[in-house]
Amino acid sequence: MSKVCNQCQSEMTEGCDVLVEGVMYGIKVKKRRRGLFKSISAKPKAAVCPNCGYVALYINNYEEFSD
Ligand SMILES: [Zn+2]
Repeated sequence: MSKVCNQCQSEMTEGCDVLVEGVMYGIKVKKRRRGLFKSISAKPKAAVCPNCGYVALYINNYEEFSD
């Protein structure tokens, strides 16, 4: 299932790495779970629209982020 651009409905190019400019490491999304010691984290990927330049961030293990 490929992602479609929110802006122009073109098919997006997925799997792009998200990096902080100038360094090799990327960013992380993290959620602390209430009542549990373990928190969940994920490294977001980016999807780029080759038609209008819109960039969307997404993660693959999004099910783990539900309450
Ligand atoms: Zn687009």
